[in-house]
Amino acid sequence: MARDSVVIVGAGISGLSAAWELSGGSEGPSGATPRIEVIEADERVGGSLATAQFAGRTIDLGADGFLARRPEAVELVRDLGWSNRLEAVDASGASIYLQGALDELPEGLALGIPTSSRQLREVKGLTLRARLEARRDEWMPARLKVGPDTTIGEIVRTKLGRELAYQFIEPMIGGIQAGRIDELSAQSIFPALLEAARKGGSLMKALRPDESAAASAASTTVMEPLFYSLLTGVGSLPSEIMRQLTSRGVVVRTGVPVTALRRTPSASYPFEVDTSSTTTPADAVILATPAPTVARLLGALDPALEALSSVRGASAAMITFSVPRAGVVLPEHGTGILVPLATAWTEGTMMVTAVTFLDRKWPHLRHDDSVLLRAHVGRSDDGRWRDFTDDALAARVAKELATLLTRFDFPSEYLVQRWSEALPQYYVGHETLIANAKAAAKAHCVALCGNAYDGVGIPASIGSGRRAAREAQSMLRLHQAN
Ligand SMILES: Cc1cc2nc3c(=O)[nH]c(=O)nc-3n(C[C@H](O)[C@H](O)[C@H](O)COP(=O)(O)OP(=O)(O)OC[C@H]3O[C@@H](n4cnc5c(N)ncnc54)[C@H](O)[C@@H]3O)c2cc1C
Repeated sequence: MARDSVVIVGAGISGLSAAWELSGGSEGPSGATPRIEVIEADERVGGSLATAQFAGRTIDLGADGFLARRPEAVELVRDLGWSNRLEAVDASGASIYLQGALDELPEGLALGIPTSSRQLREVKGLTLRARLEARRDEWMPARLKVGPDTTIGEIVRTKLGRELAYQFIEPMIGGIQAGRIDELSAQSIFPALLEAARKGGSLMKALRPDESAAASAASTTVMEPLFYSLLTGVGSLPSEIMRQLTSRGVVVRTGVPVTALRRTPSASYPFEVDTSSTTTPADAVILATPAPTVARLLGALDPALEALSSVRGASAAMITFSVPRAGVVLPEHGTGILVPLATAWTEGTMMVTAVTFLDRKWPHLRHDDSVLLRAHVGRSDDGRWRDFTDDALAARVAKELATLLTRFDFPSEYLVQRWSEALPQYYVGHETLIANAKAAAKAHCVALCGNAYDGVGIPASIGSGRRAAREAQSMLRLHQAN
């Protein structure tokens, strides 16, 4: 009997994780392992994960770390035999730029949201009005009727006022997603916030961790790091997965976009997967591409799949600088700076949304004589950076850094990395949109995975890929039974 064939479209971390799971995960392939072909449009695997040589180091061009408390990424690194490359983040905390100066962010925030008005006492850049709004939430909370989903902005603006919402909370939550809190879904991105809003009463109190549970956890557990990176860069993970997949017999093709998925009702397999030069028969397909690509390839089969064309991706750019230590002033503590949107500046408003002190976070990047830092620009509604050449963008950002940090001498070494539509925006109703699309795809022997479906972070994308692989396995079993 011919082996089943599974085609995986897209070799970002979710597609590669799907291939890893399908080829046996930590156990490796068995007699039941199907033929697996991964087809990637780009010349290299990894999607948003990539490394480059810069200023005598290997640096990440995209994601530079992943959450340690979620298991998926750490497990995959262990499966690959790379545990000794895990590196724990070496600093904590951050500052926020308010009223022309840096304030340290207080401890105890819940994804940027204060859980007590006392936390805001030392944040000098907030007005008296913002502090009073926080106190009001504790003593006389605003009412808000919440349905099955709403925006994060609606909740925090109503409960805590505009200044805290846009100046204090949005820089953190909006920064992670490169989006606006007035568009992002509370249900998909911050379900605990929706739950807290539903309870009524004080939002901050509802978001406070249960103190007795936190105390008993602290007394019994060893402190785990918050984030991990890899000594060779997070971007080195995809090529290692590819290397090990290849040695398992998985076919990985790069530089070949999939152009069509064709149903073949009369043949013994349900799909043919086309590139410009090949056709591969498939008993099951895993689509690990951005959601609009799924709509383009499969939208004609079902309106729920066509609806994926509405998932917008935010674009952003990151400018990495290597600066002589004497040429920059950094805050005493923390891994970086957050900058509220539309922060006034001598030339209009700032484009920089955040700054990361890369060599404070990751010891393997440290050099005695220079500092490695990265500025982030771009949001779902701010694409000004696209109008700049790389050199002009670096020069403009350096000027903003000189304001934010008080000193930043424009260095000769910088690297601009642009990411086009790479961060999917989870709008209100995203959960339903995705659940319908997954169900429609499944009916056609297609599993969907990637950062548009189960969360944008690396662990969520890995988990999404492995889930899709398990779905494909059960599709194959069903196919064999019929
Ligand atoms: C700038 C940036 C910084 C980030 N920082 C962090 C971070 O610090 N920590 C964290 O946890 N997460 C971070 N993320 C998020 C995380 O990196 C991504 O969500 C994750 O890597 C997405 O993986 P994916 O496989 O779902 O998608 P992608 O990486 O987008 O991969 C999709 C792949 O599909 C391919 N493809 C598209 N169309 C076709 C086609 N027709 N045929 C074949 N192939 C196709 C693409 O070329 C691409 O390789 C960051 C993301 C970005 C953009």
